[in-house]
Amino acid sequence: MAGRLPIYKTVLVGEGGVGKTSITIRYTENRFDDEMKMTIGVNFASKKMTIGEDNVTLMLWDLGGQPRFREVISDYFKGARIAIAVYDATRSFSLQRLSEWLGRVKENAPDCQIIFVGNKIDERDNGSGVQMEEAAEMARQYGAEVMEVSAKTGHGVNEMFEAAAKIALERHAELVGN
Ligand code: GDP
Repeated sequence: MAGRLPIYKTVLVGEGGVGKTSITIRYTENRFDDEMKMTIGVNFASKKMTIGEDNVTLMLWDLGGQPRFREVISDYFKGARIAIAVYDATRSFSLQRLSEWLGRVKENAPDCQIIFVGNKIDERDNGSGVQMEEAAEMARQYGAEVMEVSAKTGHGVNEMFEAAAKIALERHAELVGN
């Protein structure tokens, strides 16, 4: 059977400062910038990967997290197939804030697959910050898995995007019945 060539719109959501831009840059350019400038508007990037026989392209939409953009941001969610819901593993509050973001995703892209991503695990001290189980409990409400990453060290970043693409491919196969 010939491989498929799907292109999936992938949106990164979460509070400003959790590391959405850093995760995107780590994945697409394999670098990290300690003094990342705040995203004003949207950053775009794309990346191809091969999963089994399928060549998947992720079109990454990295949405700025600033409150003043929230009113217009809904339009960016339309057509999204994957939502990478990013929280800062050193700040519990950033996990709680995801429910509002995901509400907007669900409103505008009901079939979107969600994956919870805890970033900055290089900075989390033992026993403090957001523990995996706490995030997993919230993720379950969205039928989502949790992965922990560090954009700074690169830990888990490629694996996370591959897992997201696989989830979207499986979902696609379910929808078209093959
Ligand atoms: P965004 O607003 O969600 O796009 O967040 P940014 O990517 O702009 O990152 C916000 C700040 O957190 C920047 O100063 C980054 O250098 C820092 N940062 C991002 N990812 C990590 C990480 O994995 N570990 C650490 N220690 N800092 C990070």
